Amino acid sequence: MSKFYITTPIYYVNARPHLGSAYTTIAADILARWHRMKGEKVFFLTGTDEHGEKVAQAAQEQNITPHELCDRNSAKFKQVFDTLKISYDRFIRTTDRNHEDMVAHILKDLKKKKLIYAGAYEGLYCVGCERYYTVKELVDDKCPLHHQKPITLSENCYFFKLSVFKKPLLQLIRNNDWVIEPKERKNEVLGFLTSGELEDLAISREKVEWGIPIPWEKSQSVYVWIDALLNYLSGIGWDGKTKKWPEAWPPDVQLIGKDILRFHAIIWPAILLTLGAPLPKKLYAHGFLTSGGKKMGKSLGNIIDPEELAVTFGADALRWLLVSTFPFGSDGDISMSRFYDKYNADLSNGLGNLVRRVLTLATKNKDTFLPPSVSDVRFKQKINLVWQDYEKALDDFKFEAAVGHISNLITFCDRYIDHKKPWKLFKENKDSYQKVIYNLLESLRHLAWLINPFMPGKSNDIFKYLGIESAEKKKPLTQGQKWGQVDFIKVTQGEILFPKL
Ligand SMILES: [Zn+2]
Repeated sequence: MSKFYITTPIYYVNARPHLGSAYTTIAADILARWHRMKGEKVFFLTGTDEHGEKVAQAAQEQNITPHELCDRNSAKFKQVFDTLKISYDRFIRTTDRNHEDMVAHILKDLKKKKLIYAGAYEGLYCVGCERYYTVKELVDDKCPLHHQKPITLSENCYFFKLSVFKKPLLQLIRNNDWVIEPKERKNEVLGFLTSGELEDLAISREKVEWGIPIPWEKSQSVYVWIDALLNYLSGIGWDGKTKKWPEAWPPDVQLIGKDILRFHAIIWPAILLTLGAPLPKKLYAHGFLTSGGKKMGKSLGNIIDPEELAVTFGADALRWLLVSTFPFGSDGDISMSRFYDKYNADLSNGLGNLVRRVLTLATKNKDTFLPPSVSDVRFKQKINLVWQDYEKALDDFKFEAAVGHISNLITFCDRYIDHKKPWKLFKENKDSYQKVIYNLLESLRHLAWLINPFMPGKSNDIFKYLGIESAEKKKPLTQGQKWGQVDFIKVTQGEILFPKL
């Protein structure tokens, strides 16, 4: 049985879920649903990153314990993901016991391998990012994300010998044994690795009590990024000791936003190499969602709330709009007016109107529609072509292209109705009328399959209106993709799928 394992980053528990985190997770969910639809074994991991100084500070300000804050906020993430119909298989929290235990084991292992040593670190630290910056990374002496000057921090800590991985990483990336996509992101990592020495990484902090302690020196806790990256192993149930890797390792793809590329493209594979673990098959870093030309973020105050958007457009439509407005690998500016336009064009006037038109024509005369003895070659070819293009697009993470192929089929059907005028055929040629409506109902059935990874709820509604809900749910995709084998005997008019906004 083929399989598909996918991860998204775990999200920072001290922030509210925003459109950026929803974007990565929705894209991952579309892929997970698509591969489940193909009958593959899927494991989809996401969760929350819960340690660090800022979490403890926020809890203190609110007069609650850090644990209480994490429980409350991670529940919020789960609730938003439920609203957005995210079908994750595990929601990992870095305060989960199995995660904390595994991190401690891995640290001991790295120390035994002499890849961790004691030292002192002085550097420019952004409290907002919870990370050190090199001078070269700053923009006008400020953090590029928070536009604030970092503070100079000096402390005793442990280092991970990241520098020794420069050569192996370069070789792996150049040989495509460590696959980074899109190409621009791969070049960015290669550029970083070749631009100078790769420095060792400080992996512990003093006096940060809300963190996983360094097992041999409890006054220090592990750097939040090391803690967070390791969720990908604890999240699939690895204990840090057994030599056998869990079934869900390595993932077929790790989906991230490009802001966290270096952590995932350099530190993460270096840790995996020390553990002797296979590398993920692919790391894919998507572009930024911007609002008014700026990356969305709490500190910039331009956050769009995904829950509010789900109320306005409905969760299904929001999923469609988010991944189809611009190509996945590029940056894209989000604006409400663009969403309204696209909603009305693609969904209300497009798919929704077609479904309404066909179901009205089919139910007016209370007829049943059985496959014609000779099926329409033109339709059959069209459908096969759409499926081919759609599959190719999804396998390349080109969501906007996959949506384009669906819209193309919708237009094809609309033109077919205008051309055939079935309301006339009903009076003049009953036989032709039967065939035309059959082609259209069968096309709606295919559309319901095609939109399923994007809009699972609306897909189900269409199956329901066609009277074939339970039969289609039991079918494997290969069966569902066949043209002209379904009897339509219980078609109803249903409700309006996408009310005009
Ligand atoms: Zn910052």
